[in-house]
Amino acid sequence: MKVSSKPRTFPLDAKSPKEDHRVFGKVRDKPKAIVIYGPPGAGKGTQADLIARNFGFIHFDTGKYFEKILYNPSFSKDPIIRRERKNFETGKLMTPSWVSKMVRIRTRKMAMAGMSIVFSGSPRTVYETKKLLPILEKLYGRENVIFFVIKVTESDSINRNSHRLVCSICGSQFLYTGRKSLSLKGTCPFCGGKLFKRTLDKPEVIRLRIKEYESRTKPLFMELQSRGYKTFEVEGTLAPFKVFEIIKKRIYTGK
Ligand SMILES: [Zn+2]
Repeated sequence: MKVSSKPRTFPLDAKSPKEDHRVFGKVRDKPKAIVIYGPPGAGKGTQADLIARNFGFIHFDTGKYFEKILYNPSFSKDPIIRRERKNFETGKLMTPSWVSKMVRIRTRKMAMAGMSIVFSGSPRTVYETKKLLPILEKLYGRENVIFFVIKVTESDSINRNSHRLVCSICGSQFLYTGRKSLSLKGTCPFCGGKLFKRTLDKPEVIRLRIKEYESRTKPLFMELQSRGYKTFEVEGTLAPFKVFEIIKKRIYTGK
């Protein structure tokens, strides 16, 4: 029986530590912005974490960032927050103009501080892309903005999401694969916290999230193309470390 979990560390390629070191320096010298796309359950967050740990990027997980804002008790009466919370919980995309503004403010701050950023989950629409891209180009330079698309099938996406359990204490995510200890009755193997399933991961909500991805996110790939950007497609059904190998190679070599 296989239990996959979000990796906490990534062993650097033992065969080429020197190369890793050299490239790390290179990457650090020129701050970069990386955007990872993919349907729900593609492993965007995992890959973004790996990039962040290996290259010293800041992982701007906009999903988590907005979750914190939406569930902050001091904003609970704010009509905008209430509206967006409803979108979020039903699987709809949040209002692009609002999301975009919040993301741009944070991005600018991090970029001005000289940080490399890896985005998972944003920008999600053509509108958001049109707003964010000029900022990234200006702050990082065109050649330092890279896009990845992780591909998984709809059934994989539903399968992975509906088996996702989240720890209420440390936030670790696990894929439930039938083992009793790793179920709603069990506890987090890492910190012992109670595990729960997000509303977001109910099959009917996932289906809507996939539909939103197809109809609202995918069109932005054309927009990127028309601006002369290449999106690098990666097969997401591979093991996370293999997906990362491919991504890493692209960051190193541009191929
Ligand atoms: Zn935990």
